[in-house]
Amino acid sequence: CGIVGYVGTRDSVGVLLGGLKRLEYRGYDSAGVAVIGADGGLHTAKKAGKLGALQDELAQHPLATGGTGIGHTRWATHGGPTDQNAHPHLGDDGKLALIHNGIIENFHDLKTELLEQGVVFDSETDTEVAAKLLGVEYARTHDLRAAFRTVLKRLNGAFTLLAVHEDAPGVVVAARRNSPLVIGLGEGENFLGSDVAAFIEFTRRAVAIGQDEMVVITPDSVEVTDFDGNAVPFEPFEVQWDA
Ligand code: GLU
Repeated sequence: CGIVGYVGTRDSVGVLLGGLKRLEYRGYDSAGVAVIGADGGLHTAKKAGKLGALQDELAQHPLATGGTGIGHTRWATHGGPTDQNAHPHLGDDGKLALIHNGIIENFHDLKTELLEQGVVFDSETDTEVAAKLLGVEYARTHDLRAAFRTVLKRLNGAFTLLAVHEDAPGVVVAARRNSPLVIGLGEGENFLGSDVAAFIEFTRRAVAIGQDEMVVITPDSVEVTDFDGNAVPFEPFEVQWDA
């Protein structure tokens, strides 16, 4: 229900938890984060319940610090509000993590197809099909942008999606259809959010992403394209309200 993404030099876990806190007003039943650590590995933590439950988990088992991460608060639609169904969901090699707001309407057909290929699922969510499909496509192409675009074109329904991959530290890929996504522009860092509240503490320069558009952020670059990879021009605006 709430989404935050970060690339930069701050400790991403702190940025993500702060952003999720600001999105709390939307309501949720679970929360989770994924970080590419300074050690180069993907690290995740997720918990049913309030953000406090995730914070307790992180206090007991701190994640490796790193400047690339994604964070999610879930309002369950497919699969109950359990630790396992909380986001992020992983690709089958455990090297990529994905979070999702919305509903993937054709998840059943996609899941059947993936199960037939021998892919093993860890949750009951619609979201996990996007994570597993991204893993399969990445294994085929070793190109995160191309793999992500292939996944986007296969999904029906409503989605804001963010993903990170161990092989691409310093990169968050994202996209939206029928669900909101905003970029926050920083200096040597960039942010993503389901709304500007996610990053208002750090920047007021924002870009609203259009329907069926994909975004790639790094600490010093922002790309916006359609689902075919064609560049889409974008115009930053200044967030006016007080947060
Ligand atoms: N449909 C997804 C799920 O149930 C995402 C729900 C949301 O938007 O938080 O896990």
